[in-house]
Amino acid sequence: MVKPESVEELKALVGEENVLTSPEELLCYSYDSTVLQHLPEIVVLPYTTQEVAATVKLADREKIPIVPRGAGTNLAGGTIPIQGGIVLSLTRMTQILEIDTINMVAVVQPGVVTGKLQAEVARKGLYYPPDPASLKVTTLGGNVAMNAGGPHALKYGVTSDYVMGLEVVLPNGQVIRTGGKAIKNVTGYNLTQLFVGSEGTLGVVTEIILRLIPQPQSSGSVLAAFSDLDDAATLVNRILKAGVTPAVIEIMDNMTIQTVDDYLGTGLPRDAAALLLIQVDGVRQAVEQELKTVAQLCNDNKATQVEVARTEDEEETVWEARRSISPSLTRVRPNKLGEDISVPREAIPDVVRRIEEISRQRDLPIVIFGHISDGNLHPNILFDQTDPEEIERVEAAAGDIFEAATAVGGTLSGEHGIGLLKQKYLRLDLPTETIEVMRTVKRALDPNNIMNPGKIFPDN
Ligand SMILES: Cc1cc2nc3c(=O)[nH]c(=O)nc-3n(C[C@H](O)[C@H](O)[C@H](O)COP(=O)(O)OP(=O)(O)OC[C@H]3O[C@@H](n4cnc5c(N)ncnc54)[C@H](O)[C@@H]3O)c2cc1C
Repeated sequence: MVKPESVEELKALVGEENVLTSPEELLCYSYDSTVLQHLPEIVVLPYTTQEVAATVKLADREKIPIVPRGAGTNLAGGTIPIQGGIVLSLTRMTQILEIDTINMVAVVQPGVVTGKLQAEVARKGLYYPPDPASLKVTTLGGNVAMNAGGPHALKYGVTSDYVMGLEVVLPNGQVIRTGGKAIKNVTGYNLTQLFVGSEGTLGVVTEIILRLIPQPQSSGSVLAAFSDLDDAATLVNRILKAGVTPAVIEIMDNMTIQTVDDYLGTGLPRDAAALLLIQVDGVRQAVEQELKTVAQLCNDNKATQVEVARTEDEEETVWEARRSISPSLTRVRPNKLGEDISVPREAIPDVVRRIEEISRQRDLPIVIFGHISDGNLHPNILFDQTDPEEIERVEAAAGDIFEAATAVGGTLSGEHGIGLLKQKYLRLDLPTETIEVMRTVKRALDPNNIMNPGKIFPDN
């Protein structure tokens, strides 16, 4: 319970206009991108690290739960303030502090929108590759906290591969710095990476040093349809073994193809078991050669349709299909649970078939798409939230999917994190001793358990 004196103290610390308490305002911060909801007692919107530190210090002293929040796009229930308390919105800390073109480094505040940084560095011929599909709204602080990935992960890696250093406000209000601009740095424990992916449970990220790379000169794409899922899956390794590392390889299963085709009406191959969308990028001559190699390998691997896109417009047509998946799904059912399992590549065909079986057994439409090159699949369970019986089947189907993934050596999450939604399955994936080490870290940094409490671990 936030005491009235604490509300007044917070107003004095960050300014009255940056503290929200009305029911309408609190409601806006009770959601994220899941179907979960819980009201905070107060929302604080700081502009500076000092204001963040003062707010956290007060929360620790008064033992008030505090939930850091970026754009609220996470798909794990990570920003739901399930114990009430303070939501700390970082969306006013939006400065790109530096783009250092010599060292190829950007220094940013956590509320910078990912797509904005990408656009700003592109103007200087540089590239920040991590590209969650939500990048037009999502914040870099949220990306760091969730270790967000995206389609370009195969060639370019995920957020953690670009975080060189951080400024973090610890749960006791102390401000620390980790890492820096030096490319090689093995001094002491790698605390930077401890905070990456910690889902706002270990501290508040208030500044981020990010690695940049040169902008690729050009790109081209291939769209290939397969009547047999195994042919699509084995193609990935054939491409990699041929010495080509595509920037992106995405898969859409039959139901996804049909749903997107109903939505777009652009004549996608509706009977195909799988569609692969492959993008290569780099210097112009290499791109042309790699496009030829990839198209040839698609044909060799029994693709029933192969289209090569060289111009920007042609590529746009190919990738429109991928981008249309999310909007097309709402036409099937009003709600979706977007899952995010990651499995060893060779297990993909079996896992896809198992999920199709789960869909039949639980009588729920499940579309499967995702980043096939990383084994990171997004089975999306489509349902109607107003039907309690259907919600029970959705939960059972999600459990079945996690069992299928972990049974083949996969993991519960490739990029969306654990939050609230997956914590009850954590033990399927991690040994008890490993969970206990994680809890020990949490207890050491946050003995009063104020920082995003109730997330990641079951029963905390
Ligand atoms: C349509 C759509 C597509 C998506 N596609 C992808 C995708 O391709 N890949 C992917 O990885 N994810 C994807 N996501 C999920 C989501 O966008 C990511 O998890 C993203 O990183 C969340 O950023 P955010 O700013 O919205 O953070 P929020 O949702 O506000 O917060 C996420 C977590 O980070 C913590 N947090 C936020 N800011 C800070 C901070 N400054 N310091 C400490 N902790 C903090 C919060 O407490 C919470 O636990 C998608 C979501 C949607 C809705």
